[in-house]
Amino acid sequence: MRRAGGALLSLALLLAAGCAVTPAMAPKPPVVSVVDPPPLTPVVESTPPPAPPSPPLSPPEPKASWFVEGHWGPVYTDDAEAKERKVAVLTFDDGPSPEYTNLVLDTLKARGARAIFFVNGQAAQHPELIKRILAEGHLVGNHTMTHEDLRSLSRAEQYEQIAGLNDAVRAITGEQPHWFRAPFGSFNDDTLAILAELGMQLLNWSHGSGDWMDVHDGYKDPAILIHDVLAETPRNASMTPLHPGSIILFHDTLRHTAEALPKIMDGLQEKGYSFVLPEPSQP
Ligand SMILES: [Zn+2]
Repeated sequence: MRRAGGALLSLALLLAAGCAVTPAMAPKPPVVSVVDPPPLTPVVESTPPPAPPSPPLSPPEPKASWFVEGHWGPVYTDDAEAKERKVAVLTFDDGPSPEYTNLVLDTLKARGARAIFFVNGQAAQHPELIKRILAEGHLVGNHTMTHEDLRSLSRAEQYEQIAGLNDAVRAITGEQPHWFRAPFGSFNDDTLAILAELGMQLLNWSHGSGDWMDVHDGYKDPAILIHDVLAETPRNASMTPLHPGSIILFHDTLRHTAEALPKIMDGLQEKGYSFVLPEPSQP
């Protein structure tokens, strides 16, 4: 790589040198733009009033607890004041990904939002990503070791898939995930019994972003994804509409998702949404 870079640099220097030895031309006058004059000093800018020492200008949003309705959401609250708030839960599956998880984390950090990362067995190979997820206030969820359709597995095999991933995460963080997401959303009574035994809770999704649909060569137009996540009226019957309490499914393994996320989050905030994490339901 370094040698290739050096070759490129040499080529660039040669080209630059080539320019220098071409027959001299009359120096051109500097191009002056007449349509974009340099900005003048601000015309009117009223002096901002001094910040009052207290209380803060906008009171902090009331703290409410959000819980998951059934296994598929949405999230809801019993807090009378918070009931009318539009909230969404951001979730990212199938990672961690050395290519894109950091980008997703950067976007969340810039907007002060927390999310759940439902990870698979490669978490063991990327402890630094798992640690960053937790250090920045997000949750690590369990998405099984190898992403099988659990309904095709025996109870013992399901247990290995779920408990094995817990062990892998615990080896990095010292803690077992609480939330579980079934690969493909597919589960049965054995799954639920195992989760109860392990003190865990199933959390699938109420709003599929569709980031896995219509993907060609691993990519799709981020503009389509942005549209589909923000649409209250989906393009077709296989899409789900955005709704208050949406538990939104993304994949932090996809480039277009990482690219679309800033505009998706800004769009949600423009629609009045804030981002929350669910609390475990009382047993
Ligand atoms: Zn998955």
